[in-house]
Amino acid sequence: ADRTVLVTGGAGYIGSHACKALAQAGYAPVTFDNLSYGHQWAVKWGPLVIGDILDRASLDAAIDRYRPSAVMHFAACAYVGESVADPGKYFRNNVCGSLNIIEAMRDHGIRSIVFSSTCATYGIPESLPITEETPQRPINPYGASKLMVERILQDFGTAHRINSIALRYFNAAGADPENEIGEDHDPETHLIPLALDACSGKRSSVTLFGSNYDTDDGTCVRDYIHVSDLADAHVKALQALERSTGSSAYNLGNGWGFSVRQVIDTVESVTRRRVPVAIGARRAGDPPALISDATRAREELLWKPRISSLSDIVQTAWAWHERQQLDPMRGHFARPVAGSWR
Ligand code: UDP
Repeated sequence: ADRTVLVTGGAGYIGSHACKALAQAGYAPVTFDNLSYGHQWAVKWGPLVIGDILDRASLDAAIDRYRPSAVMHFAACAYVGESVADPGKYFRNNVCGSLNIIEAMRDHGIRSIVFSSTCATYGIPESLPITEETPQRPINPYGASKLMVERILQDFGTAHRINSIALRYFNAAGADPENEIGEDHDPETHLIPLALDACSGKRSSVTLFGSNYDTDDGTCVRDYIHVSDLADAHVKALQALERSTGSSAYNLGNGWGFSVRQVIDTVESVTRRRVPVAIGARRAGDPPALISDATRAREELLWKPRISSLSDIVQTAWAWHERQQLDPMRGHFARPVAGSWR
């Protein structure tokens, strides 16, 4: 049971890819998820406990049953726009929910946690690329909620010797290269899956949120990082926590920026289809450009993105998109249902 890892949000997009990476590295992931955004079909590499991080008793019960030696904490609300409209939802789920998990760790003597943080904690940076020393001044409640949890982790490190690594993701994209799992949000708000829907006729068009930013082509610039490379970084962070103590944070990105228009162009060339585009207003809470410097993760975690070209990233997302058209249940009935592990 020494290699058992409690994965909150393990039924979600990044969490499910992390479960696969954990299993392949010889760990035993146990997913804890309320299935509000996650999917039972995405839990393929270990048991699923259906529970809510806001419910301390169900967290305690899962820990008593599976006795994890570490936690990976993905469960969170993660829509920037929604966080501006409904901040209470973000502070409750993301901050109170995380505090429950961290206090449960303290009370059960679990000393290691890898936490999903975000480049949204940096707000509008003064300079690019963004290093871990760039000041964190979030411009939306989503980023603020994640920054609060980073602070809680530091203070629990000091007071209770809980060791933590916060991973600040740039734009997660793509799908498992073996096409076993992939992105499936409801509602879908992310650029690449929306563009794939638009080029395949599932949606009439994709709207560019702002074309007058102070960037080369006027659209926002983001650093897209493959979800399996993020998953691999989590395993490496867990291994780092096995040999060292303290609280630290790492940026995870490829270090290249692509504008919204460049992403659309890449989707067109990968799929060989046209993406119908409309020009719309800016979206509240969006910084103009976010590009990572992930040197620290490369040097200290020995992490190296493997699927780093944008067209390769989009190719994996397209393969998953095609599979969903053919197999809308994503093999849900083709293999034992994860819930039968319970
Ligand atoms: N975007 C867009 N139209 C859409 C969805 C997103 O122009 O329908 C832009 C968005 O403004 C941002 C970029 O695409 O600059 C990536 O957005 P996404 O929601 O995928 O990720 P985020 O940056 O919010 O994490």
